[in-house]
Amino acid sequence: MDQTVPGPLWQPTTLRRIPVVVHVISDAACVNGNVTDALVHSQLTVLNEDFRAVAGSPGGAGVDSKIEFFLATVDPSGNPTTGIRRYCNTTWYQDQGSYWLTIAWDTTRYLNLYTNSAAGSRGYVPFLPADPAGAVGQPQDRVVINWQAFGRVGPVVPYHKGRTVTHEVGHYLGLFHTYYSGCGTATAPACYTTGDRICDTPPNATSHKGCTASTSCGGVPVPIQNYMELTDDACMTGFSAEQVQRMRCTLASFRSTLAQ
Ligand SMILES: [Zn+2]
Repeated sequence: MDQTVPGPLWQPTTLRRIPVVVHVISDAACVNGNVTDALVHSQLTVLNEDFRAVAGSPGGAGVDSKIEFFLATVDPSGNPTTGIRRYCNTTWYQDQGSYWLTIAWDTTRYLNLYTNSAAGSRGYVPFLPADPAGAVGQPQDRVVINWQAFGRVGPVVPYHKGRTVTHEVGHYLGLFHTYYSGCGTATAPACYTTGDRICDTPPNATSHKGCTASTSCGGVPVPIQNYMELTDDACMTGFSAEQVQRMRCTLASFRSTLAQ
């Protein structure tokens, strides 16, 4: 899916709800990384504010994807669950040891979100957004978030407003960074096959930090407000309409058994 094909089929009309299991992995002493239930709940709130562009929330300026997330209430065996699992394992905390082979829930039915040290990154998904088919259904299909960039209010400024999860779930649903493969072509149809494969995000040459307005690709404003940049949580306000369509296409085409 190295191009975007927007169309009426992918307009955000029907509500799609994705069950989430959060695997909280802390060190062997159960100290570092021991995210509270309250912080997990705050993160789900942020995710829904951002994906639904809830009026009055920090993501209110974005486009409503009609995609929602909820902590799973039934586990893979059919038993009631809080949707939060906890482990104290230093190897797994260091993002090593292929923990997903032991603890993943059916990745075709649940978004498996892990918090640990994320090997020092803010977060990642272990596959190219262009090729979700390569990981879908495999135990390693997952979103990994550094616990220090998790929840609202999270532990470390400026990544304390829960936007790292919004960004990584954007990848999980097929979105590239806005600066992926450079400026690309600004106009349709070539903008669907170059750059970030999205036409309604401005051309963008490279990633940006902070919240300072600047320009790129010949004077075009950098989309510092887009969730698929790397700017501070505080300046991110939304997905674009075509990013929403690409995510809904990914959900229907590659993750068809995930949403309810
Ligand atoms: Zn990213």
